[in-house]
Amino acid sequence: MTIENSDLATPAYHTLEGEAVLQLLNSSAQGLSGEEVLTRQEAFGPNELAAGKKISPFLILLRQFQNLLMVILLVAAAISFLLGEHLDSLVILAIVLACVILGFFQEYRAEKAAAALQRLAAPHAAVLRDGEEVVVTVSEIVPGDILLVHTGDRIAADARLLETVNLMVDEAILTGESTPVAKSEAVLPAPDIPIADRLNMIFGGSVATYGRGVAVVTATGMNTEFGRIAQMLGEVRAEPTPLEKRISLIGRVLSLICLAVAIGAVLMGIVKGYGWLAMLIWGISLAVASVPESLPAVVTGALSIGATRMARRQAIVKRLPAVETMGCTTVICTDKTGTLTKNEMTVRRLYLEHRRVTVTGSGYEPKGDFHTADHEILTLANPVLHTAARISLLCNDATLKQEEGAWRLRGDPTEGALLTMGLKAGLDYPHLIQEHPRLGEVPFDSKRKRMSTIHQDTAGPVMYLKGAPENLLPFCVRQLTTQGEKPFEEADREDILAENSRLAGSALRVLGLAYRRLSDRPELTPESEETDLVWVGLVGMMDPPRPEAKEAVSRCRRAGIKVIMVTGDHPQTAGAIANDLGLMKKSGAGQTVLCGQEVNQLNDEELLATVEHTAVFARVAPEHKLRLVEVLKRKGEIVAMTGDGVNDAPALKRADIGVAMGITGTEVTKETAAMILADDNFATLVAAVEEGRAIFDNIKKYLVFLLSCNLGEIIILTGAFFLGLPMPLIALQILWVNLTTDGLPALALGIDPKAPDIMSRPPRPLTEGVFTNTVNTLLAVIAGYKTLIILPLFAYYYLYNPTGATDSEQILPHAQTMVFVTLVLAELVNAFNCRSSRLSLFTVGPFANRFLIAAVIISLAMTVGVVQCTPLATLFHTTPLDWHDWLLAGGLSLSLIPVVELTKLALRRRAQ
Ligand code: ATP
Repeated sequence: MTIENSDLATPAYHTLEGEAVLQLLNSSAQGLSGEEVLTRQEAFGPNELAAGKKISPFLILLRQFQNLLMVILLVAAAISFLLGEHLDSLVILAIVLACVILGFFQEYRAEKAAAALQRLAAPHAAVLRDGEEVVVTVSEIVPGDILLVHTGDRIAADARLLETVNLMVDEAILTGESTPVAKSEAVLPAPDIPIADRLNMIFGGSVATYGRGVAVVTATGMNTEFGRIAQMLGEVRAEPTPLEKRISLIGRVLSLICLAVAIGAVLMGIVKGYGWLAMLIWGISLAVASVPESLPAVVTGALSIGATRMARRQAIVKRLPAVETMGCTTVICTDKTGTLTKNEMTVRRLYLEHRRVTVTGSGYEPKGDFHTADHEILTLANPVLHTAARISLLCNDATLKQEEGAWRLRGDPTEGALLTMGLKAGLDYPHLIQEHPRLGEVPFDSKRKRMSTIHQDTAGPVMYLKGAPENLLPFCVRQLTTQGEKPFEEADREDILAENSRLAGSALRVLGLAYRRLSDRPELTPESEETDLVWVGLVGMMDPPRPEAKEAVSRCRRAGIKVIMVTGDHPQTAGAIANDLGLMKKSGAGQTVLCGQEVNQLNDEELLATVEHTAVFARVAPEHKLRLVEVLKRKGEIVAMTGDGVNDAPALKRADIGVAMGITGTEVTKETAAMILADDNFATLVAAVEEGRAIFDNIKKYLVFLLSCNLGEIIILTGAFFLGLPMPLIALQILWVNLTTDGLPALALGIDPKAPDIMSRPPRPLTEGVFTNTVNTLLAVIAGYKTLIILPLFAYYYLYNPTGATDSEQILPHAQTMVFVTLVLAELVNAFNCRSSRLSLFTVGPFANRFLIAAVIISLAMTVGVVQCTPLATLFHTTPLDWHDWLLAGGLSLSLIPVVELTKLALRRRAQ
């Protein structure tokens, strides 16, 4: 059962019956078999628009040589080798290689992290295979697959519809037409009609905005209509993040300054009588050591590795700038159901015939009973309970299955709870759906807040409805009682609304149930029939708050982040849960609940003023979310907004960080979002904010360390010339200092643990770059102080020969070795200073970063080797030092700690 690529190119599928299309594609209504899917995946390749880019380690290695300075240094070393300086040139080569390997690993790790993230964020779609519904990644879909389309899906491939229920598809991406098109499975006879008119086809890339459908896939990947367009458009390049852009600019400016200084020093050296080649190599080494050309790569690396860390905590970042913005979040607008609550619904209460009924049992297991306050047990013999159970089962799209002893739900938990309730009442579900086939439906949407289905019944068609009580009650004219249908008086309505409030006030999610008998008419459309309803009763279900959400809310409060609950649920249910989670608390004024309807009555200015003391927006529609984001952004807030439904996409797009739900979210929402919460959990979002702050902190630590080292080196090395002294370090030594300090310790700083105050300080303003006053002051103090200790040390050893070396040839190498050792030690000590630019080293814990300790020990051991081990000392032109020298170098380097501590103290005082 194989089909060829060529088979797919020709037929005009829209002109054929669904059955014929299935035959042509060698498929069936049950879907393909697992084996056949594998064969077809081989034949057709992945359902992707362009072959996914593979990371080639070789290319990454090659990229390391893009650095022009490195190449010049290698060329100069080669010339020097030819001129007889064999040893020096080989050592230079070795050090350059070590730098290249280090750079390679750093970049390779970042690329792998980015690729892994892309895989995690891959879109999914539901298909029928071997008669079972399975969710697969879109790239695995093959021609002949049976695609199950739901509201909010991005259509995974081109397909011929076999079945539709009110399916509307937005095809703007293909046709430019922004109004969704109503689709149907009917045959279209004309073969040559434009895509926009092929109403029985759906096309990859378009969006199902309403309803559902079943279709057989006719083309995948680049063979789809969208694939053809994509081919014409070519590849889209990822934009650098704002931080990358800013850092890249700073990197370029600093590079130019360093280069100019290095060139100046080379010229001065030549004037002073040094050989031109030696001076050239020295100058380039200085430039290699000081030019921060790798800054943007370092930032990208830190962001993508940070994103992997977030993914480990279930927050999947889709766009890298989100990592950066995440740490600046000032307001989180979050959904309630499933995010702040567990989304494990259980019906607890019914209100039938103005009587309170308690439902027992737990979870989705259909075991429990219905008893009234006066201990009467209700059964199916009670016609009102019978009807309530029937509506709960039939006006429902969820399914429950018993797997390995546990009851598993597929679908919306609200519907799962209703299904369980109906089964608890004792209705025979398979029999019921067989006897009452569904004739039509209006699916649930968060705007109408209700759902209705029409079923065949012995007495003719009947419509069943469930939804928010306020959205059903206005259409009810009668009510069902044990004695039959009775008129629905105003007093009944008021009583039900009062009970609705009471149930909602105890944090229950409340739905109303109703029905209407219909006359058998061919032109029956469900929408027009949602009037003259018969009221059946209220259902109150419990959805407990997530235990971790309370702690996450209080962490937000400490971190200066306002949390706003934005929900479609009843204001009292929402308010009760918000209260439970501590959302209504605020220092000073209390927080209030505002309804969607009230929001409609406020203009933007009034809403702006109200937001300040509103913790809950209830009964909102998606457009309210968009307005809220806009108002908050006008206020200058950095807004993270969560969403799941297809209508939430505009608000998510507009927010600074759109966050989609991984479990309950539609594909379109996930696509629009900058981040996906794999577990739908609010606490995960807060963890992502924390990671975002930590990543920025670490980039800052890395930069402060790198720049303070480089700045110090360049001032010391060129300063000596101005003071009429010889070179304080030779080229090889400069490269070594660069390798030992910019290498492992800098890497270790990039993965430094979070500061203890990370979630107890206010959010960083988005416009605040890395070079704040604090950072600039620290850079100046560190580089200045190092110059202040090292230059006089050099002059002292060179001019006064304190160790009394008799061989005058040894005086300069000895002085240079002192500079070399003190510089390396000072930079290693400085790595600890840079662990926080605000807090004392003793607050962040000097030994908290084990990697840094290891990196410092390795770098130190290597440097001691280079100085004390004679063969290495010969290579590096150093002279072994005695313990006095080491003590002096160590003491001077350690003095950097109190100097930086005092500076930080002064900076903290000033900030207060
Ligand atoms: P959020 O997830 O944004 O916190 P929510 O899930 O509580 O909000 P919606 O899903 O928009 O909000 O539901 C709003 C109201 O619609 C609910 O309070 C309930 O009365 C009703 N409702 C929810 N799900 C269904 C459904 N499947 N069928 C009918 N009515 C529903």
